[in-house]
Amino acid sequence: MAAAGKLTIDDLDVAGRRVLVRVDFNVPLEDGRVADDTRIRASLPTLRALLDRGAALVLVTHLGRPKGRVVEELRLDPVARRLAELLGREVRKVDDVTGPQARAAAAALEPGQVLLLENVRFDPREEKNDPDFARELAGLADLFVNDAFGTAHRAHASTEGVARFLPAAAGLLMAAEIAALSRLVNNPERPFWALVGGGKVADKLRVLERLVDRCDGLIIGGGMANTFLAAQGIDVGASRVEPDLFDAARAVMGRAGERGIPLLLPVDVVAADRFAEDAQTRVVPVEAIPAGWMALDVGPASLDAFAEALRPARTVFWNGPFGVFEWPAFAEGTRRLAQVVAELDAWTVVGGGDSAAAVHQAGVADRIDHISTGGGASLEFVEGRPLPGVEALADTAGGAAARHG
Ligand code: ADP
Ligand code: MG
Repeated sequence: MAAAGKLTIDDLDVAGRRVLVRVDFNVPLEDGRVADDTRIRASLPTLRALLDRGAALVLVTHLGRPKGRVVEELRLDPVARRLAELLGREVRKVDDVTGPQARAAAAALEPGQVLLLENVRFDPREEKNDPDFARELAGLADLFVNDAFGTAHRAHASTEGVARFLPAAAGLLMAAEIAALSRLVNNPERPFWALVGGGKVADKLRVLERLVDRCDGLIIGGGMANTFLAAQGIDVGASRVEPDLFDAARAVMGRAGERGIPLLLPVDVVAADRFAEDAQTRVVPVEAIPAGWMALDVGPASLDAFAEALRPARTVFWNGPFGVFEWPAFAEGTRRLAQVVAELDAWTVVGGGDSAAAVHQAGVADRIDHISTGGGASLEFVEGRPLPGVEALADTAGGAAARHG
């Protein structure tokens, strides 16, 4: 698979070599077991491809936030057990990252064997991107493959530093992310619409500032929309807004006006009398949110307008749920929007952890063309910020141009 200018595992000759693979096994643990193995499963195509081609694998991942010290509950033994079950082969797990156990086990690896290192964030040098630590990691293998897109926006030793010391290529997941997000940013079929909702207004405003120059239409929903409505002088009651960002929101609206592209906001909302799952609710026009009430979902008239506007779209990027979709009373807007997006005759990309969850919850995940697993990483990519973990991979001829256009 092409990865917009970066080498992938298909470009490497891995037979008889030891390959250090940065995976994302940052999975939830419960009672010493993996509670959700989605991320482990997602890595299997890359791991199987490398094993089938005669590689020996040294796997490295972080789990949770141990902050540079050993946290017993964040050891990777349950992950190794689950991976062994899924791969159908033995997975050797060591209790250190680059210490004597790890070095001995890596040196003894035969083609087809799999070794999992201990949680890389047990070592304080990981998040500092310490070059000595990166060199120690690199010393465990002959080649490096990064398949952890979700941490590619962090310059850590196992994502960026190590790539300075070994030939470095993208795994299949990483390659798919780079290919999809590059196409979105550089080469979208038009009309290109962007849908932005959720919380984290400051982060998302940066994405909007970039998208407003590139897309052909914008729809803003969720918590984000309340700040935009308030910035226009609409009284949104007790909805959470970020007054510090009113100017930035007005600048985005002004820019859309200058470019002559539509920017749609909700015209009606599901208002609640408090922030609670069982709050009293009322569907009201945005101008009529009762005092003390808050907008927690988009309303049906908004969805009709959004669906109509999106019909001609040929590319859609969606980040951020349009309501508090975790609570059934406020999940309908996001669910309907997911259906609308899934049914479009467009190439569709969904990014963000909660957005991905919402699309799965709506039962339409299989009709979305690309669901990005990297929340922060996908947003930074769309913003046009170079991701250290991607930049560090080896370029193909003409590489960087293919990513940045
Ligand atoms: P993602 O993880 O997809 O990037 P975010 O984390 O930015 O998305 O936003 C998701 C969160 O935003 C959810 O927890 C959701 O409940 C919240 N949210 C969406 N709409 C509203 C709203 N109107 N008011 C408060 N919170 C909201
Ligand atoms: Mg989120």
